[in-house]
Amino acid sequence: MVRLSGMTLLAGARILTPEGFLDDAWILTDGEVISEIGQGTPPAEPDVDLTGQIVLPGFIDQHCHGGGGASFVTEDADEARRAARFHLEHGTTSIMASLVSGSNEALKAQVSTLSPLVDDGTVIGVHLEGPWISQHFCGAHAQDQLRAPALNEVTELLELGDGRIRMVTIAPELEGGIEAIEAVADSGALAAVGHTDADYETGVAAVEAGARVITHLFNAMRPVLHRDPNAAGALLEDPRVFGELICDGVHIHPTSIKLALRELGVDRSCMITDAMSATGVADGQYKLGELDVTVKDGVARLTEAGNIAGSTLTLDKALRFVVNNCDVSIEDASQMLSANPARVLGLTDRGTLEPGKRADLLVLQNASLDVTRVMQAGTWID
Ligand SMILES: [Zn+2]
Repeated sequence: MVRLSGMTLLAGARILTPEGFLDDAWILTDGEVISEIGQGTPPAEPDVDLTGQIVLPGFIDQHCHGGGGASFVTEDADEARRAARFHLEHGTTSIMASLVSGSNEALKAQVSTLSPLVDDGTVIGVHLEGPWISQHFCGAHAQDQLRAPALNEVTELLELGDGRIRMVTIAPELEGGIEAIEAVADSGALAAVGHTDADYETGVAAVEAGARVITHLFNAMRPVLHRDPNAAGALLEDPRVFGELICDGVHIHPTSIKLALRELGVDRSCMITDAMSATGVADGQYKLGELDVTVKDGVARLTEAGNIAGSTLTLDKALRFVVNNCDVSIEDASQMLSANPARVLGLTDRGTLEPGKRADLLVLQNASLDVTRVMQAGTWID
């Protein structure tokens, strides 16, 4: 076989394909894409021997605020790049830059800062998690920045993003909430329901208006109750909706994760980090948007109110958590970490390992599931 420069041959690994694990398998990449996957003797001398290791598709995190001491909620493009790079080293080859509630001016400045990073592929898009969310379920959002979604503010921001705003979280019960969901869906972005006080009927109306994602299911929303399933119940039962799950053992009890997986099925679940800047760095004082956050034993809380303030999770940790605590197989975990977010986001060029897809992959130690190498678009990350 003639191998041209720009090609890489990895061999000897357990490789996860859409058909399941292939043992003693190899992958040939060509430039940014996977050109061939096979089993047994590789077609040439491999560049990398991965005996005893597992290869999974790169993770796709559709909800993340930062990591490694850096935040996406910034007007400093280099800081946002550092946040993406931190998660890349943990296997996240595609990442959303999630903002938090802020003034119209601040949001515009942040969207403008992040737009070039969407264009060069550092992030897959911008997620507006607020300001059009509930006062009662504000989580770690600045309460004085929350407001009802005036249609002109929503459309103005979407126009400024010009396709780069890929997801918007809205509380549908707010005045103008349903119209805002329609406007977001019409723009081609994903409308998500979250940080919401909505009841069941309003949840149904939100899905009819185009909502397709539940922002961090169970967190910052009315709970599913036996007499009133609330918006969470309405979205959980609709087969068109995907649920985001923060699987760090802090945000959702392992049993509730199992319950969610039974209702959503593996097909409609997406694992996210919702990570903030303190992820991967020491406990201490941090900022999430304008608010002070204290991180103690890896748990981030608002310094004043004590609300959980995002996570300090990385997706490789989430993989280990669900495999070790929630009876989830590596195959199913991978689907929720890569293939499903690719589907919900419409990223047709990635999310699975098969010829023609972007060569986004990570290598894990077989027993510990620790990440040993990451490849993004055919290039190893050092
Ligand atoms: Zn968030």
